[in-house]
Amino acid sequence: MLTIGCHLSSSKGYLNMAKTAVSINANTFQFFTRNPRGGAAKPIDEADIQAFLEYSKENGIKTILAHAPYTLNACAADPSIREFAKNTMADDLRRMEYTPGQLYNFHPGSHVKQGAEVGIQLICEHLNQVLYPEMTTTVLLETMSGKGSEVGRSFEEIRDIIDRTELSDKLGVCLDTCHVYDAGYDIVEDIDGVLDEFDRIIGIDRLKAVHINDSKNPYASHKDRHEKIGEGFIGTDAFERILNHNYLRNLPFYLETPNELDGYEREIAILRGLYKQEM
Ligand code: FE
Ligand code: FE
Ligand code: ZN
Repeated sequence: MLTIGCHLSSSKGYLNMAKTAVSINANTFQFFTRNPRGGAAKPIDEADIQAFLEYSKENGIKTILAHAPYTLNACAADPSIREFAKNTMADDLRRMEYTPGQLYNFHPGSHVKQGAEVGIQLICEHLNQVLYPEMTTTVLLETMSGKGSEVGRSFEEIRDIIDRTELSDKLGVCLDTCHVYDAGYDIVEDIDGVLDEFDRIIGIDRLKAVHINDSKNPYASHKDRHEKIGEGFIGTDAFERILNHNYLRNLPFYLETPNELDGYEREIAILRGLYKQEM
């Protein structure tokens, strides 16, 4: 069965997100752990979590994906920004244990003129400080488009981060279709080749989730502007191949397209229609 959902607002709590997901025929969802621009998270409401866990069990929601604030930059040149990144992710990972065994995604960061090599070094130092042996969450590195000085623009950079992190068994990858296409991986003309390359360089077992977004910009543009499914340069035919690919079809898919809830509901219906139940 296809596992698909979209990004939802977390302002009304976990149970509300799960009910919203079910109301649009989703069976998973993504949410920001706190205000996307950072700041303190709301205190955990244990009654809400309990109600969420029960509701999810009854309604077939197994996987959820928390997204770190996008201002979190583990490889900033400014030490106070790195300190904020460390404290924020450490706090998020403690909070994630209220919903054990789930996924937490973050953008590796922007090296801001320090170079990718220094950036990767700082990201690994960050991960070595925030990952801990008892955690049940899998932390996902998101594949980035390579705009500005983003780290994670290539499978090699992602692999280097994983290789140089001590608790690398806690790490996985989230493939963002808009980002990799903009980064220069041709998932439209050669999805098999791209995923074989992913397998060769990172290992396909590391792939734990897909951000399914069309792109407003052409191949290798290094831009990162998401478009509605079928209205961008990736297009519906490519998404049909992506959804059904053997390496991807059992992963959870998350829409981060420019939509309100009704638009997400429509896209989920379209993608469910493209999914082949048996292969
Ligand atoms: Fe992201
Ligand atoms: Fe994304
Ligand atoms: Zn993006």
